Amino acid sequence: MGLARKPLLLLMIDFQKLAEILTNNKTFLITTHVNPDADAIGSEVAFYQLLRMLGKEGKIINHSATPYNLQFLDSDSVVEKYDAAFHSTLFDSSDVLVALDFNRADRMVSMQKAFSDSKQVKICIDHHQNPEDFVNYQFIDSSYSATGHILYDFIKKTDIVKINKVLAAPLYAAMMTDTGSFRFERTTATLHRIIAELLDTGVNPTEIYNQLYDESKLSKIKLLGRCINSLQLIAGKQIGYMIITQKDFSELEALESDTENFVNFILSIQGVKIGMLFIELKNGFKVSFRSKGNIPVNKLAGVFGGGGHTNASGARFKDSQMKDMIPKILSEAEKFINKNTKG
Ligand code: 5GP
Ligand code: MN
Repeated sequence: MGLARKPLLLLMIDFQKLAEILTNNKTFLITTHVNPDADAIGSEVAFYQLLRMLGKEGKIINHSATPYNLQFLDSDSVVEKYDAAFHSTLFDSSDVLVALDFNRADRMVSMQKAFSDSKQVKICIDHHQNPEDFVNYQFIDSSYSATGHILYDFIKKTDIVKINKVLAAPLYAAMMTDTGSFRFERTTATLHRIIAELLDTGVNPTEIYNQLYDESKLSKIKLLGRCINSLQLIAGKQIGYMIITQKDFSELEALESDTENFVNFILSIQGVKIGMLFIELKNGFKVSFRSKGNIPVNKLAGVFGGGGHTNASGARFKDSQMKDMIPKILSEAEKFINKNTKG
C-alpha cells in the first residue's frame, strides 16, 4: 500500500509584492547556486523569458558553467559564467538582483562578495529551508516542489503573462527533476495538473527526459561504475556511502557535474535510510546527503555548516582533506541515525 500523502501546508508568498518589483524596475541580474541543476537553470531561463515578455531586461550570470545536459534549456545561450573583471559593474547598475533556487549567500561562491556588496534591491525566490537574511525581499516557501513551481504559481496567480511553451519547457524541466521524475514527496495531484497544463502548451516530455538523462557521456557512466564500486554500508546497513576522488575524475576525464543523482543509487538498496556521497574537489570536498522518509538529513548536513531539504542536503568543506574527515562524518551520521530511528 502506498503512503498516504499529507496535504502540504502552503504558506502564502506575497506574489503581489513580487509583481510590483517586476513592474517598477527595468533591469534584473539573475543568478543561481553553484553546480546548477535543472530547477536552477530552468527557473533562471523562465524568469528571463518572463522579463522579456514584460519588456524588461534580464541578465543571467552564474558561478558555475551550465552542465552540458542542461544546455538545451538555454537555447538562446543567455546564461553566462561569472567573470569578475567583465561582470562586476552589473551588480551596481542592475535595478534588482535575483537569487533563484538557493537562500544562502555562500552558494554563489565567487559571486558572493559582489552580490553582498551591492546596494541594489535584492530578492530571493526559493524552496529550501532555513533561509539566511541576505536579500531585501524573500519569496520562499519550502513546501513547493521546485523553484520553477513557485514561478509557475506566481505567473498563474498574478496573471502577469500567459504561459506559453517558451516558459513551460524550462518550468517543466524544473519540476520534473526536483521531484525525481514525479516520485518525491511533493508530487501531488495539484502538481500533476500543473504538468498537464504545461504539456498542453506543446512541451514534449520524452524530448526533455532524453535531453536530461539519455545524453550522458561515456566518462560519466564509467565514473558511476567506479562510484558504485566504492559503496559501503554501515550502521546495521542503514547508511550507505560512496566516494569519488580527484584521481577518479582525472583518470576518466569526468566532471563534478557528472555526479548528479549518483547518490540516489544508495537509497535504492533495501533497508538503507541514509545515503552519502563524498566528492573530492580541487579544493576540499563536498558531501551529498539523501534520506528516505522523515529522516531530516539537512540537520546532519547542518552539523558541518551545510543544509538543504529534509531528504536531500549537502555540505562543502574548503581546504580540508576528505580522507581525514570521512571517519568523523560517518561517526556523526551513525549517531544521527541512532537518534532519529529510536522509538
Ligand atoms: P546536492 O547533494 O545535490 O549537491 O545538494 C542537495 C541539496 O542540498 C541542494 O538542493 C541544496 O539544497 C543543499 N546543499 C547542497 N550543498 C549545500 C551547501 O554546501 N550548503 C547548503 N546550505 N546547502 C547545500
Ligand atoms: Mn530546486
